[in-house]
Amino acid sequence: MAATLIDGKAFAAKVRGQVAEHVARLKEEHGITPGLAVVLVGEDPASQVYVRSKGKSTVEVGMNSYEHKLDAETSEADLLALIGKLNSDPAVNGILVQLPLPKHMNEELVINSIAPEKDVDGFHISNVGLLGTGQKSMVPCTPLGCLMMLRDHHGSLSGMDAVVIGRSNIVGKPMAQLLLGDSCTVTIAHSRTKDLPEVVRRADIVVAAVGRPEMVPGDWIKEGATVIDVGINRIERGGKNVLVGDVDFASAAERAGAITPVPGGVGPMTIACLLANTVTAACRAHNLAEPEGLTA
Ligand code: NDP
Repeated sequence: MAATLIDGKAFAAKVRGQVAEHVARLKEEHGITPGLAVVLVGEDPASQVYVRSKGKSTVEVGMNSYEHKLDAETSEADLLALIGKLNSDPAVNGILVQLPLPKHMNEELVINSIAPEKDVDGFHISNVGLLGTGQKSMVPCTPLGCLMMLRDHHGSLSGMDAVVIGRSNIVGKPMAQLLLGDSCTVTIAHSRTKDLPEVVRRADIVVAAVGRPEMVPGDWIKEGATVIDVGINRIERGGKNVLVGDVDFASAAERAGAITPVPGGVGPMTIACLLANTVTAACRAHNLAEPEGLTA
């Protein structure tokens, strides 16, 4: 393997450490303990695991975690009423509604009912608009984590050619906005892109967020490019269930200058950035200086 490994697990531990330091300072100097409320509707097993892990990580960095578990049959009106209460609760700085929601609920309506300044997932339409216009916003956690790793590896990203594969609202589009904000020349590729291999071969930075196991082979990667693999795909290999990314790691690592592994790359950064967004939201709520290096 020629590429440098970008260790997301180690980097996430560093980010969590920075968050914990900032939380300790907020408590000591201002008597403030930031709080994150996570709302889960229904019993989806994967969502339950995510919510538990978010709660545990929140407490580990010294913040308050408020978990709200609602029945799958809860009405949309009741969920909106709970969000309304959390919006006006000064102890709650961040609100996260775990997706997907049950089919009888309108996800857009629910997300847009969260106060934008508490929307630590960065999915509220106001935050999308603020990010798109280069203003201070809450930034979606997964792309924020990718940006932090890229900045850490390269310093300045100015003038680099970046290709983002995938145009979802939660990863691809905000990722492209963030790279543009850092003065990259950005291409967003998707399922209708013509000659994707050639598009990817031009890139100094490749962010793959597709959801197709090992779709990007090494010979699409320009020599020395930085590859950020967002994909999380569960496949069977050699009789075992394994996690792989959207990039064929073995062949891509032969050509890339730096690459994130799956698991242990982007994944751990997502929760670290959720914590970072919560402490940022708490600072903004109290008109205090934001932690450096933890925002876009
Ligand atoms: P979506 O399914 O919402 O979006 C996938 C995107 O990939 C779409 O824009 C789609 O294009 C594009 N695409 C599909 N097939 C191709 C193809 N053959 N060539 C080029 N583009 C293609 O996925 P998400 O953005 O939500 O997630 C992407 C991946 O990232 C998933 O594996 C997911 O599990 C993972 N993920 C990981 C996170 C983490 O914490 N590490 C967090 C969030 C997601 P089109 O729009 O044209 O259909």
